[in-house]
Amino acid sequence: MSQDRVVAKLQALVRIATVSDRDPAQVDRAAFDDLLAELERQFPLLHDRLELTRVATHGLLFHWSGRAQERPVVLMGHLDVVPVDDTAPWRHPAFGGDIVDGELWGRGTLDDKGCVVGICEAVERLLEQDFTPAQDVWLSFGCDEEVSGGAARMAVEELERRGVRPWFVLDEGGAVAHGAFPGVKPPVAVIGVTEKGVTSLLLTAQGRGGHASTPARNGPTARIARAINRLEKAPFPSSLPAPTRELMTRLAPHAPVALRPLMGNAERLAPLLTRALVAAGPESAAMTRTTLAATTLSGSPALNVIASRATAGLNLRILVGDSVDGVIAHVRKTIRDKTIDIEVVEANEPSPLSPYDGDEAFDLLAATIAADFPDAVVSPYVMMAATDSRFFTGICERVYRFAPFRMSKAQREAIHSYDERIGVDDFVAGVDWYQHLIEGLDHRTEPA
Ligand SMILES: [Zn+2]
Repeated sequence: MSQDRVVAKLQALVRIATVSDRDPAQVDRAAFDDLLAELERQFPLLHDRLELTRVATHGLLFHWSGRAQERPVVLMGHLDVVPVDDTAPWRHPAFGGDIVDGELWGRGTLDDKGCVVGICEAVERLLEQDFTPAQDVWLSFGCDEEVSGGAARMAVEELERRGVRPWFVLDEGGAVAHGAFPGVKPPVAVIGVTEKGVTSLLLTAQGRGGHASTPARNGPTARIARAINRLEKAPFPSSLPAPTRELMTRLAPHAPVALRPLMGNAERLAPLLTRALVAAGPESAAMTRTTLAATTLSGSPALNVIASRATAGLNLRILVGDSVDGVIAHVRKTIRDKTIDIEVVEANEPSPLSPYDGDEAFDLLAATIAADFPDAVVSPYVMMAATDSRFFTGICERVYRFAPFRMSKAQREAIHSYDERIGVDDFVAGVDWYQHLIEGLDHRTEPA
């Protein structure tokens, strides 16, 4: 019964197309209004008993008073979704919320309405039992995670204003990932302990331009092309960040026999393992270093005109250990061309590393995962994508990224793509997990 109830709630939310957009004029505000109204209908006790602060246009920050305030916890999710490409071959409608063969289909099921409903339902159930958490619990739901994270930033400001220093923050990110590592049978429950910093640069070369019949050497377009080539030939140095070494070590006993000695000695054999990961392909190479991709390009607008200005956009994902200043210096040095101007379009440092070795908060997450997903190997890891939780690193030392859902490789690949869907049973298990986590806060504060 209660299982059907929570599944119907997620279906209803998926059917409301809350697509965010960098341009506020393109956002369907009525959809976001509908979503908030639906949430209020679905979770009456939560809305009645928790204090709500609205942030940005449709962001929500709930405060649930606990028996103590020393170690407040923030549980996060986001209400917006990425757009749906109309030409993508969805097998079931992107905003249909259909259940087919035990899976609930639609944009936002995994990213990230599943987390939002999971957190809210766990709280609602506990309120039905007149449960009071051992510590203050805050729920922070952004409305623009996929474009700017402005709402999360404002939630952080609000917490700062109130003098709240969270004990830990939990946002989306990792999952109980099935089939994540070739040859490793058990699922891996990965908890993100840092995320790469997204930084974008614009390279601009200027020149005389002119008629295409009388080209001069080294025009703006050629210089931009040379710069891109030089960057491609000089990748950032690779290394194995500590959480990746930890992940390898924990996976080793489950890996194919031939790989066990290498992975099991990740600390000692880090250079060798790093080379192996770089060689294994772009995905695993990205785990070992800052990456750079030339994305947007512009030159002459006409076939018979030489560009007087050419540009290249560079998208960088900075690995923990590197910095924005460091990568800009690398780009400048590598392109070896003083005539090219480098403009910083957006700059985000990698998130600081949250503790995981012998840390009480991390151990609470790990123990709750181990209890609910006994088949999974739990490990910290470095997240490649960005989440709203990065804004919380300014007020909290422990920022963890984990969604308590089993996800197959195909499901993970569907995020931001097509055929996004979540297993119904997996979703229900995730709701229970959030409840167990909140109940588990209790234990931790009981006198020893
Ligand atoms: Zn997300």
